[in-house]
Amino acid sequence: MTDILRMSTLYAPTLKEDPADADIASHRLLLRAGMIRKTASGVYTFLPLGYRVLSKIESIVREEMNAVGGQEIMMPALQPAELWHESGRWDDYGPELMRLNDRHDHGFCLGPTHEELITALIRNELRSYKQLPCTLYQIQVKFRDEIRPRFGLLRSREFIMKDAYSFNATQESLQQTYDDMSRAYGIICDRCGLAYYPVEADSGQIGGKVTTEFMALAETGEAELVHCACGYAANTEAGECLPAPTVHEAAAMEKLHTPGVRTIEELAGFLGIPTSSTVKALAGKNAEGKLVAVFVPGDHELNEIKIDREVPGFELLTDDEMQAFGLHKGSMGPVGLPEGAFVLADRSLREVPQWVVGANEDDYHYVGARLGSDFTVDAWADLCVVAPGDACPDCGKALEGARGIEVSQVFQLGDKYSRAMGATFADEEGNEVPFIMGCYGVGVTRTLAAVVEQHNDEHGIMWPFSVAPAHVCVIPLTVGDDTVQPEAERVARELANLGFEVAIDDRDERAGVKFADADLIGWPLQLVVGKRGLANGTVEVKLRRTGQKKEIALDALTDLFSFAHRHKGNVSPAGIGRFSSLFE
Ligand code: ATP
Ligand code: MG
Repeated sequence: MTDILRMSTLYAPTLKEDPADADIASHRLLLRAGMIRKTASGVYTFLPLGYRVLSKIESIVREEMNAVGGQEIMMPALQPAELWHESGRWDDYGPELMRLNDRHDHGFCLGPTHEELITALIRNELRSYKQLPCTLYQIQVKFRDEIRPRFGLLRSREFIMKDAYSFNATQESLQQTYDDMSRAYGIICDRCGLAYYPVEADSGQIGGKVTTEFMALAETGEAELVHCACGYAANTEAGECLPAPTVHEAAAMEKLHTPGVRTIEELAGFLGIPTSSTVKALAGKNAEGKLVAVFVPGDHELNEIKIDREVPGFELLTDDEMQAFGLHKGSMGPVGLPEGAFVLADRSLREVPQWVVGANEDDYHYVGARLGSDFTVDAWADLCVVAPGDACPDCGKALEGARGIEVSQVFQLGDKYSRAMGATFADEEGNEVPFIMGCYGVGVTRTLAAVVEQHNDEHGIMWPFSVAPAHVCVIPLTVGDDTVQPEAERVARELANLGFEVAIDDRDERAGVKFADADLIGWPLQLVVGKRGLANGTVEVKLRRTGQKKEIALDALTDLFSFAHRHKGNVSPAGIGRFSSLFE
């Protein structure tokens, strides 16, 4: 039997006005509904209602991790610097790592993630292939000194993450764990009521399709995605890009006077051709400071991650540096580049035999510049940011765009950490080999905020049944009289006895205040008990998600709720199953 939440004593200070610095729904509503409070920039306290939701999400995550064989542990947040020196990340991680010294001047950090700690944990005790695979996880606080903490729980400096790490003997075994984890991550999103896409993501230096991000769809999301009806989806940071440049034909290369033309739009406008028929030039340098001239179709942008993969350390030139190389901003091109320049172009331009491009002279451009005879290209690569409308790499149809919140990510690490930190096991032949590792993170507090982003309206939050702070709020319209309040208490107790989580708004407040707070907090169901209804033997049930209301006979209530309770397993987290049928 669960205890009834009493609004008269519950610590849930609601706010009538929107907090000044909260610009997106989840941040605003979680503050207003009395679920979280800001302690410092990017640091939050969970109040009872927020903490109940957090605990429910944690339980869902825990159940799904256990279901795929994860074993829960708890590592310290405080991590010795030595371990980070071993992996090389003490230097690589940069200012996001919260560093501190103890009184003996020993270096520590507050963990932003736990690869080092867990690799050190198992390296002397997980010894044989017979003990593998082994997956350990924790649900714990993480610290990242984000350059711009914002959007409340979505990008904070202290947050809760579920992080799991798998130790596998072979790549096949890692793939198996990775697939199991990916499935579990989808189920976690489903159970939390999140609409999401698993997307191809940037795998950094490791390469290959070894990481997937789970993106909760939201207009306010920081990530841009493309997706296709065939099931393909990618983060635009990572997605393969297949531009379709068009050819503007000219009999021969011709130098045109293009006064004042600097941008692609100006050039296309001047010539009366689509931007896809022009070629965009970017001047950069590699890590050694050597000039790199990059060309992409005029209607596409250069992808910073892809160019860095092709040219490690790539940086765009400043205006001064361009001048020093004798280059002209706004009219750069592949014909007559300075000696020694490395010329890199998007692979789609290989199919464009003649280019419309800058002439390396202010106010002049070429049309019909012939690839192969007028200029050459040293290397071709996938260089552009994929955009809506581009061809799907899997099926060729036009991709659609969306925005998302990265709620979780799975990653095949390989032996990066085990090798650096000397974590090996004896394989079947008795050879000592480094573990093959995977890591898998769910942003628990970010998931909570993403749920609110997807489930709210102008009145407040609309919690999915599965993670709501309680399932139903009983609202006596008057308090202190001898019929309404006792009846409301009786109904609340009855529902609690049936296994529902119940709140009762037993505050001596006007009905309007109670209704507004109930909508703001977002209980999935409200049960309004008033004098007039009771005279007819009824109470009013309101479905928060649709606002629909219905009078229910008191003596049918138990039946209805016990039926719903029996079917709770089948209740969709976003809806409330059988309750909805009440209103059909
Ligand atoms: P981002 O790109 O958004 O900064 P990340 O890719 O660096 O995130 P991971 O290292 O993959 O994050 O961490 C796993 C999960 O932890 C993320 O998918 C996200 O849900 C959560 N997370 C990461 N950073 C934050 C943060 N600053 N605030 C809240 N949750 C976070
Ligand atoms: Mg990530």
